[in-house]
Amino acid sequence: MELAEEILRRLREEFKSSAKLLISKIMDKYREPFHLLVGTILSQNTNDKNSIRAFMNLASKFELRPEVLASTNISEIEEAIKIGGLYRNKARKIVDLSKIIVNEYNGRFEELLKGDLNEVRERLLKLPGIGPKTADIVLLFYLKKPVIPIDTHIKRVSKRLKLTSKGGYEDIRRALQSIFRESDYLDVHFLLILLGREYCKARNPLCDKCPLSDLCPSSNR
Ligand code: SF4
Repeated sequence: MELAEEILRRLREEFKSSAKLLISKIMDKYREPFHLLVGTILSQNTNDKNSIRAFMNLASKFELRPEVLASTNISEIEEAIKIGGLYRNKARKIVDLSKIIVNEYNGRFEELLKGDLNEVRERLLKLPGIGPKTADIVLLFYLKKPVIPIDTHIKRVSKRLKLTSKGGYEDIRRALQSIFRESDYLDVHFLLILLGREYCKARNPLCDKCPLSDLCPSSNR
């Protein structure tokens, strides 16, 4: 726990304002968890720029609610999201996702989000196109549940810092959750992403500039 606290202290110091900015950017873009699910489907196998354009286009043509998307002609959705690539497959997932919410939860997405962490996680993971990272983001960001979503930066950084001995999603999530305090999970998520983006890059990590270099077993400094 001491090492974890020191890591967190230094990263907070280093990325004081950028972590807050990152949080508000995501929450501004996806004001509701259902929007985040649609955005996630649109982000698959494409770059940020095209997935955002596809999302904005869809949002400008339709109200992003399950009952609206479930009853929209799929070709209209395909047309709206074409820019994002794999549009047929993605439109199908968006319609299927919306239909599940309409049929099983009476169109009320908030019903799916009721219950304890594991129940909600299980329900989210059953939805088409939704994996553990997205499910955990919904749980942490919108429901304030104690879980750390793991993305590719967090995966890489955690391995280099030897915060985990295994490399699977669940292994890393459990390892991080066991060494950081629950109240810090949101900060941990964003700060490790920022560390990965700014210093601990996939190729050529900038160890000589990294604020954790004297704590890191993989430092090349
Ligand atoms: S010291 Fe290097 S390898 Fe370790 S976290 Fe920093 S950038 Fe990554």
